[in-house]
Amino acid sequence: MQIRIAGLVPESYVDGAGIRFAIFMQGCLRNCEGCHNPETHALDGGRLMNTAEIISAIKRNTLLDGITLTGGEPFLQIDSANEIARAVKNFGLNVWCYTGFIFENLPPDAAPLLRNIDVLIDGEFIESQRDLELQFRGSRNQRIIDLNKTREQNKIVLWTENGG
Ligand code: SF4
Repeated sequence: MQIRIAGLVPESYVDGAGIRFAIFMQGCLRNCEGCHNPETHALDGGRLMNTAEIISAIKRNTLLDGITLTGGEPFLQIDSANEIARAVKNFGLNVWCYTGFIFENLPPDAAPLLRNIDVLIDGEFIESQRDLELQFRGSRNQRIIDLNKTREQNKIVLWTENGG
């Protein structure tokens, strides 16, 4: 399956907890003021890659804790993002994902990908709520949601570093 990407960061320390393979997906329709990655917006920009190629690069790095789907908007390429997410879960890695959608407003076809995501950072970047002190998110409106606990408890549970 093909995936349109803006870039890959094979070892990232800033896109979630631990050492992560970050996939910057190409395409976003939001145009948030102050967006840090405007080059990821064009739906026909970036480059096409095979998901299998990305999956094998992830598999080769035994130091990774997980992967991060970011962008761009991962939920514009649900099937290809899910192919990667599903594969890496089988390697025992965790999956973080950034989205401009609010969790409660994700489209219905997001469900298969959501099931393979452990942590979701949701909401648009809002420049007036930007805060450089925040860990793993750009503006205060964004939430780092622990989706495993959210599913277990059937209510939004935020991620915390120590899992508590
Ligand atoms: S959702 Fe993310 S990538 Fe898209 S415009 Fe907003 S900050 Fe940029």
